[in-house]
Amino acid sequence: MSVTLDLSRKPPAAPVKPNLGGMTREQLRTALIEGGVCPSEKAKMRTGQIWRWIHDAGATSFDAMTNIDKGTREALAERFEVSRPEIVERQVSTDGTRKWLIRTAPGIEIETVFIPGVGRAGALCVSSQVGCTLNCTFCHTGTQALVRNLTAAEIIAQVQVAKDDLGEWPSDKHDRDMSNIVFMGMGEPLYNMDAVADAIDVISDGEGIGLSRRRITVSTSGVVPELKPLGERTQAMLAISLHAATDALRDVLVPINKKYPIAELMAGIRAYPGLSNARRVTFEYVMLKGVNDSPADARALVQLLKGIPAKINLIPFNPWPGSPYECSSWSTIEIFAAIVNKAGYASPIRTPRGRDILAACGQLKSESEKTRASVRRKLAVQPGA
Ligand code: SAH
Ligand code: SF4
Repeated sequence: MSVTLDLSRKPPAAPVKPNLGGMTREQLRTALIEGGVCPSEKAKMRTGQIWRWIHDAGATSFDAMTNIDKGTREALAERFEVSRPEIVERQVSTDGTRKWLIRTAPGIEIETVFIPGVGRAGALCVSSQVGCTLNCTFCHTGTQALVRNLTAAEIIAQVQVAKDDLGEWPSDKHDRDMSNIVFMGMGEPLYNMDAVADAIDVISDGEGIGLSRRRITVSTSGVVPELKPLGERTQAMLAISLHAATDALRDVLVPINKKYPIAELMAGIRAYPGLSNARRVTFEYVMLKGVNDSPADARALVQLLKGIPAKINLIPFNPWPGSPYECSSWSTIEIFAAIVNKAGYASPIRTPRGRDILAACGQLKSESEKTRASVRRKLAVQPGA
């Protein structure tokens, strides 16, 4: 006699409790009132208390919140969570760069990278989307379809996971390894403005992580209509993935250029709220051998940026399997940097970091795909799998 198990019917999933750790102050206050945990006249005080436990102390359980009475803590635990998402993989490069693969929901895997020695002390590179709708031809993320926008909570969770690992709770505002946050991971942040702006509100809150908005940089491929809203809503520093000084070439490298050509982009940047010599825009320029790296390209770039308070970040191209470009030689990059520098612009060459763990610019997502491929291979050779 054989017994057939019906595997098509999944057991009912346990209801997911709302996680307070990724909410804005206002969302937290509303959740407490609507969850019946506290009356509205007490909600401001309770919100402040819980906020400090989560965002200053880094609490991941209600039990830790010792200045809240036991009855309220139990009521909180019944209705809500403050736990972290699952960390699928953690890697540390020989140069100290750390990369986490975080799973926030089935099929939603996010890569986050911490790079020591960048910015004042170290920079966390966060993702805003899984995949990307744009198809920059030199970027591996761009070859992968958009899975979805990340929520503010999923962006904040990346910061929290990194702070757990770096041992940075409570949030010391002066002496910390994670001094800067850059939205330079997977995805186009300006296609996910609401979540990015909410996440920045939480990360910069003075009663929590308290990271100054001047130390938070949002990088965009050039979604021109969203530049002004970004500046007004976040006061974040702006980085532009320029990569070419002419429309003919930028149309190929950064195809969103066909929609918002260079002249429109430059006008949008000049109007970016708060732009000044103290708050310069960073232009990212990936160095592609024989494509955009000649002295004439450097001179065209300088000409284009005239009058804009800017620094130019030259990024040696990080290759990925099947990529159609090569990185410029070191001497070519140095000649390019010298021309830009002579014109009065700081032109640091971004040292490739974490290449051994595929954590460098434009390599994100590839490792998680590889991981999945290797898991698939393993499964394939297991008898009966
Ligand atoms: N989508 C946004 C945010 C991602 S930032 C943007 O494009 O600005 C990631 C930075 O790394 C961008 O400047 C991007 O152009 C650059 N980049 C992408 N692929 C790269 C690669 N293979 N080598 C070096 N830099 C790359
Ligand atoms: Fe998307 Fe930025 Fe990569 Fe372009 S460079 S494909 S906008 S992640």
